[in-house]
Amino acid sequence: MDYQPLLAALPHTPLAPWLANLPEQITAGLSEQRYGDLPGWKQALMEMPQIRASRIDLQQGVIIGTPSDCDDTTRAQLRAALEQLIPWRKGPYHVHGIHIDTEWRSDWKWDRVLPHLAPLKDRLILDVGCGNGYHCWRMLGAGAARVIGIDPSPRFVVQFHMIKQLIDAQAPVDVLPVGIEDLPPKLQAFDTVFSMGVFYHRRSPMDHLRELKEALRPGGQLVLETLVIEGELGEVLVPEGRYAMMNNVWFLPSCATMVSWLRKMGFANPRVVDVCPTTPEEQRSTHWMRFHSLPEFLHPDNPALTAEGHPAPVRAVFVAEAP
Ligand code: SAH
Repeated sequence: MDYQPLLAALPHTPLAPWLANLPEQITAGLSEQRYGDLPGWKQALMEMPQIRASRIDLQQGVIIGTPSDCDDTTRAQLRAALEQLIPWRKGPYHVHGIHIDTEWRSDWKWDRVLPHLAPLKDRLILDVGCGNGYHCWRMLGAGAARVIGIDPSPRFVVQFHMIKQLIDAQAPVDVLPVGIEDLPPKLQAFDTVFSMGVFYHRRSPMDHLRELKEALRPGGQLVLETLVIEGELGEVLVPEGRYAMMNNVWFLPSCATMVSWLRKMGFANPRVVDVCPTTPEEQRSTHWMRFHSLPEFLHPDNPALTAEGHPAPVRAVFVAEAP
């Protein structure tokens, strides 16, 4: 998991101030003392066969190579290595005839988000809470100059490196094993900052918005995707217990409330560009993610409610500009 090309490129970018801490942060984020499963995952990464991809398509999906790029024995080795990193939550990925059918149809989220963005061409992009980096590849496919994803979960970071090895080890896309709190304050560096599926996990939502704003250069664009409720300005659900079986869910505002929070935190022109209920087709158990998923998280008698009786998941996309 080589970050040298990134570290070598940073001095010439607005991210140079991060170099003072980033190497130690990467080491801490991939500490084998902290994460006992990591050596096994790294072993699986090393056991992946090297296969040259005859085609890469990052615009229609993440489609790497074709079935005829390798023989069946090599494909079985590749599948075995990928399966050692189960659960795969974000995707799907198509690699040399293997369909990694992930828990989430993350491509559907991307299709809802992309049409509303300032063009990503030549942009420096941050994807906060990027998981295994699925959307980072789609951002590169949309023309980004460089994409940095951050996610503190080492399993997802290893999954990212598996995909990167199959695409191109030199691609200007990196997923760093760090959290948003590890960014230097007031970096003001990125042209676009994404926070998708993260906001409702934050106990201090206004602090999250401030961190996102400080990562953006003046005039840069925020893309915020999160769970919302139907309701008027001022309405917000703070579930006392679990929400859809998740125990780390804090603030689910109405769209009008979210827009006013963005304005309060100093963003320019905040607006909601998409609202969409999450369906059991978009989030479900598969061969690659064998735990319970949305169908089991909804109320058995009423799919309009979560198992706990809250409104079932609806997600909205907000965009705004940094001042
Ligand atoms: N952005 C992806 C994944 C969302 S899941 C999508 O929309 O599909 C939320 C992710 O946030 C998880 O992968 C989790 O590991 C990550 N996360 C948790 N705490 C974080 C933190 N402090 N900083 C950045 N990411 C965090």
